[in-house]
Amino acid sequence: MTATTLTLELLHPGQPGYDEARTVWNAMIDRRPSVIARCHSTADVAAAIQFAQTEDLEIGVRCGGHNIAGLAVPESGLMIDLTPMNAVQVDPERQVAWIQGGALLGELDRATQEYGLATTAGNVSHTGVGGLTLGGGMGWLARQFGLACDNVISYEVVTAAGDVVTASASENPELFWGLRGGGGNFGIVTAFEFRLHHIGTRTLVAEFTYDWAEAFAVLRGWRDLNATAPRQATFTASIVGQELTVGFVWIGDPQTAAELLAAFRNLGQTAAERIEELSYLTLQSREDSAQGHRFRRYWKGHYFMSLPDEAIRALLGNPGVGASLQAYGGAIADIADDDAAFSHRDTQFEFVTATRWNNPADDAEQIATIRAYAATLDRYAGGAYVNTLNGEGVHRAFSPAKLARLTTLKNNYDPTNIFHLNQNIRPTR
Ligand SMILES: Cc1cc2nc3c(=O)[nH]c(=O)nc-3n(C[C@H](O)[C@H](O)[C@H](O)COP(=O)(O)OP(=O)(O)OC[C@H]3O[C@@H](n4cnc5c(N)ncnc54)[C@H](O)[C@@H]3O)c2cc1C
Repeated sequence: MTATTLTLELLHPGQPGYDEARTVWNAMIDRRPSVIARCHSTADVAAAIQFAQTEDLEIGVRCGGHNIAGLAVPESGLMIDLTPMNAVQVDPERQVAWIQGGALLGELDRATQEYGLATTAGNVSHTGVGGLTLGGGMGWLARQFGLACDNVISYEVVTAAGDVVTASASENPELFWGLRGGGGNFGIVTAFEFRLHHIGTRTLVAEFTYDWAEAFAVLRGWRDLNATAPRQATFTASIVGQELTVGFVWIGDPQTAAELLAAFRNLGQTAAERIEELSYLTLQSREDSAQGHRFRRYWKGHYFMSLPDEAIRALLGNPGVGASLQAYGGAIADIADDDAAFSHRDTQFEFVTATRWNNPADDAEQIATIRAYAATLDRYAGGAYVNTLNGEGVHRAFSPAKLARLTTLKNNYDPTNIFHLNQNIRPTR
């Protein structure tokens, strides 16, 4: 690759755009890379990897910048900024989309919805396709079509050695296996090829709020109802202060959700209900402001394979701390566990407790509160989502057998661990 074919821009501290590029979602992260390589092409990414190795700089890889621990930003290292690589191409006939490795979910959704198509993406449109998909990718379509990673047909990857390779079921299948849930450990993905589905544009969101006195009974009923929920529905629950809200997001014709709405109304005496019909694009950006940048953030997550009554009591046992549950199951669980690196497909509910604040003086207290609450639920957890890990080890996200297979893959693709600012699989060579 000659220098003339490169479009790499290097940003150093003090240069225009440097601070903007190093700023990520969690305002607690204030790291200063020595240089930021803004990549516009696959060749730029390969050149940036080579530059980092020549200059002995630690590598961070940035897509949407939403990793809670700010893993995209290396202190004094080289941040490989993929955000200029955000092009999307859709083939409506073949129902396939090609999207570059630095794009945001909103860019993917907007391009595919022009044809009434979509693939599974997360719930906040400013999250990166890169980090979300490489860790699995949970969204409102997952119970119908599987996780985001289950819908990837192929990846274009720049490896630690600087090679550009394709990973698919037929080409480099073991790498393909590892990229579906194994995070950014094996290389930098410069393009994803996604399978798309006809979903139309219509959705419905239902939320019912109950008196706190009814919370235990309602959450039990909600759990039981989830066991037979249609795949168009993804059950949600949130606890904010002394208020429980349960509901579901429905992807499809809102009329067909009538039966489920009636079942929710039977769960207890509702204090308030909100039923909204939204376009799919509006749904996908509905939480964008609430989940906006600028705040200091902390969270902990668990996967619950079941939700026994004692777990519900524990969940409701700390009403001052915000918590949410989102149902898994459906097409996620149809896929065999060893089909991809992503683990815990038998999860029934993903739990996240999260907080945000502004004053750095409150950091310790805010973090301690979340940790203490999450710890009360540890005993009911069967693992955690790799993309919500926040300081815990990867053993929470993968079984020992999967970790062993991932380690072999890491040994083959990144034996010196140049890609370690991620949920790291350590090589053993
Ligand atoms: C507001 C918010 C909403 C969220 N909602 C959801 C949700 O609905 N569903 C869900 O599953 N998760 C969700 N998450 C979790 C999300 O999946 C992770 O935070 C994920 O890491 C974000 O990816 P990113 O590209 O934005 O982050 P970044 O911080 O840019 O990247 C995180 C890591 O991913 C790797 N990476 C990113 N892109 C590439 C690439 N192209 N090639 C190689 N490695 C790469 C790097 O290791 C990087 O350190 C949400 C997070 C936030 C903050």
